[in-house]
Amino acid sequence: MKKTIIRTGLETLYFSGMHHLMRPLVGGVGCILTLHHVRPPRQEAFQPNHLLEITPAFLEQLLRRLKRSALDVISLDEMHQRFISGDFKRRFVCITFDDGYKDLMQWAYPLLKKYQLPFALYIPTSFPDRLGELWWVALEAVIAQNSRIGMLVNGKQQFFECGSVSEKRELYDVVYGYLRSLKTEDELRRLVRDLCATYRVDIASFCRDLCMDWQEIAELAADPLVTIGAHTVNHVMLKKVPSDEAVRAEMEMSRAVLEAALGKRPEHLAYPVGDPTSSGPREFRIAAELGFKTATTTRPGVLFKAHRDHLTALPRISVNGEFQQQRYVEVLMSGAATAMWNRFRRVNAA
Ligand SMILES: [Zn+2]
Repeated sequence: MKKTIIRTGLETLYFSGMHHLMRPLVGGVGCILTLHHVRPPRQEAFQPNHLLEITPAFLEQLLRRLKRSALDVISLDEMHQRFISGDFKRRFVCITFDDGYKDLMQWAYPLLKKYQLPFALYIPTSFPDRLGELWWVALEAVIAQNSRIGMLVNGKQQFFECGSVSEKRELYDVVYGYLRSLKTEDELRRLVRDLCATYRVDIASFCRDLCMDWQEIAELAADPLVTIGAHTVNHVMLKKVPSDEAVRAEMEMSRAVLEAALGKRPEHLAYPVGDPTSSGPREFRIAAELGFKTATTTRPGVLFKAHRDHLTALPRISVNGEFQQQRYVEVLMSGAATAMWNRFRRVNAA
């Protein structure tokens, strides 16, 4: 339902030409794009994480359009420089990838190289260390492989039927929502580990199979087109971490590990998950105190001059696998759709 509403909104803005009319008002100075997986389409009917992947063909169309557009595609350092010096003569876009998936190396990197476009990669260091838990992928596997699952909900054992694709989709949404509603990430991880143990899903395998290793990351890091940014150690929702010290340690440690592994100190950060339930004013403050030049959320929005005072609370535009149409990306980058979602508020760092 929600998907339909978003799609209709994007279509309306596009076909009415409203996004062109609105751009001077809502377009700001540029934007940062968020991508995750880039890989050929899969055939499974049950793909609850499909929003996190786009096809190589869609990426190529997007890159070709960006290359031909009047926008400057720039690195995070260049974006930071433009904010500091107040250089907003030309609209810009930054391309960022979260989590460091192997498919980036195989499918996205050759295209970015072909078009000579700079991009950033935010790495949670536990992923190349092979200690990461891709709990959302593990949950997908548990539900995909079973027709009935039992789990503790609010301390009580409950059972759910998930034999059909529609039951699987529904159950995934319910369990995902429940996990995200838990007060701490520890509780979430414990429940997913229990599910994996009960239903014989090897949670460590996803990290191994899907994420780049240190050698691959080092290869990318050596390319002047590439910026490596921090994304914490354990990919935790920082806002749910009780102590300031632990939040600071997640950010600082990931930067130290990346520096040790790659020989260059990361100056940019992305908050894992990145919505208002997983990063807020405390995280924005700590990232600034630690000296990160910029830090990005996944709060939807384009960038305005006023973000100069909130460089560790930057919004991004998600290039979402559920909406793989160039016209949707165009409307999103125009700022028109996000202006409406944000009720025309330009900066949201609260
Ligand atoms: Zn992430």
